[in-house]
Amino acid sequence: MLPADDFTVLPEDYEGHADYVLVNTCGFIGDAKQESIDVVLAEAQKRKSGQTGRLMVFGCLSQRYASELPSLIPEVDAWFGARDLAPVARALGANPDASMLPKRRYATAGKPYAWLKISEGCDRRCSYCAIPFIRGAHRSVPIETLVEEARALASLGAKELILIAQDTTYYGLDLYGRRCLAELLRALSAVPGIEWIRIHYSYPEGFPGDVLQEMAVNPKVCKYLDIPLQHISDTVLHNMHRGVTGQWTRDLITRLRRDIPGLVLRTTVIVGHPGEGEKEFGELLDFVREARFERLGAFRYSEEEGTWGAANLVDDVPEEEKQRRYDALMTLQGEVSAAFNSSRVGSSVRVLVDDVVGGKLIARSQYESPEVDGEIIVEVPEGEDPLSYVGRFVEVRITAADDYDLLAVLNKN
Ligand code: SF4
Repeated sequence: MLPADDFTVLPEDYEGHADYVLVNTCGFIGDAKQESIDVVLAEAQKRKSGQTGRLMVFGCLSQRYASELPSLIPEVDAWFGARDLAPVARALGANPDASMLPKRRYATAGKPYAWLKISEGCDRRCSYCAIPFIRGAHRSVPIETLVEEARALASLGAKELILIAQDTTYYGLDLYGRRCLAELLRALSAVPGIEWIRIHYSYPEGFPGDVLQEMAVNPKVCKYLDIPLQHISDTVLHNMHRGVTGQWTRDLITRLRRDIPGLVLRTTVIVGHPGEGEKEFGELLDFVREARFERLGAFRYSEEEGTWGAANLVDDVPEEEKQRRYDALMTLQGEVSAAFNSSRVGSSVRVLVDDVVGGKLIARSQYESPEVDGEIIVEVPEGEDPLSYVGRFVEVRITAADDYDLLAVLNKN
């Protein structure tokens, strides 16, 4: 809306004077809140010293703490909620055009991938999570709108779409009365120029069987799935209100690996949740050792006011113990991930080149998602222009691996 109204939108790292500074905030868990506050405080300092103009803050944190924040950081000129796009534009003196809302700036301009948000909000009620009352009920974006957006992104150079939402497997239930992620995958696969589609944030309970099938047969759907499992102990899963048991979770992982050969799994777990004693944490370690997730991220439990967990469970794992468990888990995962990377040395793989750094190609295969996973760093033969490869698919041979990244050379055809 702002560029359409003749505003120049500058990047985050712009160092000159900006008339307005907009800070989008996250209010999900303690670490994210702290990071948001740190950015707002740093910008408030610049505002105070006259380095920048008016400071406006919006997003989940400012919505969640709307009554407390203005008096705590008075240097901020205006605060807005998570969905106040038009009010922010109006506060800048722009004339927001609501018809532009489905359109978007290509936030990853110059890169051959783009995130596609297929729905907003969440109808689940995980006991630890504040997102449903910050982002509201689940609302799917219609398939035809997403296809239109995908066409626009493809025309700007996107070859890979990364589907995101609070819960991608819920897609369609509110709008069409049924889960439609598989249908959406088929519709997006038909968009000319789109070669890869990647699924993030798929909730395990009710995982649609037709999505599994689509992933197995559709060459455009990456053999990669981000499925946040959070825990494996029945006691902890029960306290989390996740709607599944440990055995059910194990069976799902077996089914996913059986039905989609070569699948790479990413998951997220929480350590130190109420109810997680040594025994339950041991179960989690055993599970991570057995399931061999190629990628895994962990959070330390953060009690969030307003959640069912905060009102009904005792946050009884001390912070230093949460940290110890986090470190133990990530050390174990480092070994799993290093073994996976080593097993790939000598293999050939098709990669998409995102960038050039230090004369080498920064690329990813279908098994790496941007920003969260490692990269494949590819040597370019002498005399060739590395920039000519950006945005292209090429075949490479993996020559070496470390815990996170892989080194490769171009395959000669
Ligand atoms: S599914 Fe995700 S966003 Fe929804 S309540 Fe659970 S953790 Fe929160």
